[in-house]
Amino acid sequence: MAALTREVTIIGSGPAGLTAALYSARANLKPLVIEGLEAGGQLMLTTAVENFPGFRDGIMGPDLMAAMREQAERFGAEIIRGHVSSIDLSTRPFVMTVGDDRIETQTLIIATGASAKLLGLPSERALMGHGVSTCATCDGFFFRGRPIAVVGGGDSALEEAIFLTRFATQVTLVHRRDAFRASKIMQDKALANPKIVVEWDTEVVEMLDASAGAVNGIVLRNLKTGAQKTLAVDGIFVAIGHTPNTGLFTGQLDADAGGYLITHDGSRTSVEGVFACGDVQDHVYRQAITAAGSGCMAALDAERYLESIQPPPTTSAPS
Ligand code: NAP
Repeated sequence: MAALTREVTIIGSGPAGLTAALYSARANLKPLVIEGLEAGGQLMLTTAVENFPGFRDGIMGPDLMAAMREQAERFGAEIIRGHVSSIDLSTRPFVMTVGDDRIETQTLIIATGASAKLLGLPSERALMGHGVSTCATCDGFFFRGRPIAVVGGGDSALEEAIFLTRFATQVTLVHRRDAFRASKIMQDKALANPKIVVEWDTEVVEMLDASAGAVNGIVLRNLKTGAQKTLAVDGIFVAIGHTPNTGLFTGQLDADAGGYLITHDGSRTSVEGVFACGDVQDHVYRQAITAAGSGCMAALDAERYLESIQPPPTTSAPS
């Protein structure tokens, strides 16, 4: 088992983690970034990003992440593959295990992001990757010329539904209420799209056909009438929101009812020396630019914290 010692360790490599890495690298703190299982974060699952300032014509999500990564590495950030299997925030320095490595760190910046929520149906789990997806931009191409369904009523669901009309013959949006949560502009776009049909007040009862090993339909129930019907679709995209990736910190850091880490005075968590940034602590804005901004805050907060715990310089007595 190798032992690494760092002043700053960052878990996560989305816009928040890589911006924290860039700032701490430029502060000469030689940060270690553990990139996690979903390297690059959610932007790796996106196509064009048109709202990140500085790119007049937009930039592809993976290209933006590659550029952020190279920029952080140029200033000395060390990025390693791996997944943190355990962490102890009760000791100083903090100690964590990544594969066979033991890492000791003075400060920790948590940028672990959030993951897609699922409906929790056994058939959804059985058919995941076999017609069930949580990422339209990754999997939309596979449904060229086929009918599909999208579950959800927020901006993500409507954005995915609109995107999927590029490929699918028809997109059925299944929403459990009679009004969308999505922004007005997104609703107008979706409702004006001739390929999008909405099933209001409807829940998904089952995804078919787990025994066949591929999606060929979806069983829907109208929540007002109780009526059930089967819709023939070849793909189902679940777009019902996200859960923060905070399992490692349960019981060690304060979190809200949704599991999001609570930060105060910038990026400070309930343990001194531990900072959080990006979607793991933000269920409101969840944008690449806000994540990057909070990553910058976390790096500056960590730097100031490190300065505050430095022992004062020793002065030699006059001879
Ligand atoms: P969200 O706003 O939380 O919406 C989740 C949707 O899924 C809601 O319509 C919700 O229904 C539904 N839902 C949740 N759990 C469900 C379940 N178990 N069964 C059936 N339906 C369920 O999540 P989001 O759409 O991922 O958006 C997250 C944030 O990112 C939002 O602030 C959003 O504005 C932002 N965003 C912005 C853009 C953009 O501007 N381009 C794109 C994507 C996301 P209810 O409505 O009944 O609660």
